[in-house]
Amino acid sequence: MNRIFLDNAATTPLDPLVLEAMQQVMAHNFGNPSSIHAEGRQARAAIEAARKTIANLLNCSIGELFFTSCGTEANNMVIKNAVRDLGVSKVISSLIEHHCVLHSVERLASEQKAQIQWVKLDDQGHVDMQHLAEMLDQNQAAGEKTLVSLMHANNEVGTLLDINAVAALCQAHGAYFHSDTVQTLGYYPIDLAATPVGFISGSAHKFHGPKGIGFVYISSNNMLKPFIDGGAQERNMRAGTENIYGIVGLAKAMELAYEQLEERRQHIRRVRDYLAAQLEKTIPEVEYNGDPIEGHYKILSVSFPPSARGEMLLMNLDMAGISASGGSACSSGIDVGSHVVGQLHPDSPRHTIRFSFNHHNTFAEVDAVVASLKKMC
Ligand code: PLP
Repeated sequence: MNRIFLDNAATTPLDPLVLEAMQQVMAHNFGNPSSIHAEGRQARAAIEAARKTIANLLNCSIGELFFTSCGTEANNMVIKNAVRDLGVSKVISSLIEHHCVLHSVERLASEQKAQIQWVKLDDQGHVDMQHLAEMLDQNQAAGEKTLVSLMHANNEVGTLLDINAVAALCQAHGAYFHSDTVQTLGYYPIDLAATPVGFISGSAHKFHGPKGIGFVYISSNNMLKPFIDGGAQERNMRAGTENIYGIVGLAKAMELAYEQLEERRQHIRRVRDYLAAQLEKTIPEVEYNGDPIEGHYKILSVSFPPSARGEMLLMNLDMAGISASGGSACSSGIDVGSHVVGQLHPDSPRHTIRFSFNHHNTFAEVDAVVASLKKMC
């Protein structure tokens, strides 16, 4: 049975061209990039070429990019080190951030290193800009240095942040701004020269690159001290012998994602919208979490009406050869619950399935998913 993979916000299949680029390096480029002999220099050159590719795509300087093991590490690095190194005493964030942000800010609060302020959200997960401005006003008036950490797109419901508006607000209030861009890198153009964001994070496996490699952008205005101590790798910021295959794969995947962005976007959007249209025709009372019109085009978070069989939906889809992911408001039975849906729709008895797409998904796959769901709902 050919499986249907609609869980592309969790991860994406490796692009064959990315694999090929990585295999070349694996086979022929084994040097330690810190060595000064020929093999080392060759490995160093591959890393620096990758960094240059990414810097060109994001319109930033190579000195502002640091490779990490993943998006989680990048987000931990920014949040914890901004508080440690930049005199931040208040962190403004939201309760629907990815756990790597949420748990990082909660740790800072529990260790009394910074105070957390949660920005209000509407029921689609949009940030209340008025509330954000009020908190920034108050912090500025009190002389409190603030870090704002708000994700560009929510990974569960797809709601997008107006990153330019938040960046401008932070700039006007002298606050640092970090945006977790793990779900949007490779899917939306990001011009760092035009967006006054202090920090962003990326993860290769979200856009058809390998797992175990990510990066952090740290604007040259906000230099942090090392996150991992040890050797002088990543200009002393992140010690440890570099994941050269991963770095090369990350740059290749990002290059392809931006080269093909428009055609991928159009295809993904069409297939996703087709699923929505077919569901609306087939399943009574189907709704969506987040903002299905203006949100991330690769995510459709579907809210199914309460039913005895709803809890089994995800498992039954899996048994029918369809991979998606779950997460309803409450944690019950096999559904582990979602802090995001729980926050937006507290105590809702409805059942959520997140479908997330890549550019290889087809209309025929959607037909098969809807036919399966019809039997299950
Ligand atoms: N931030 C967001 C929004 C994510 O969706 C994820 C992955 O699910 C991460 C951060 C963590 O990225 P990684 O898997 O590279 O640690």
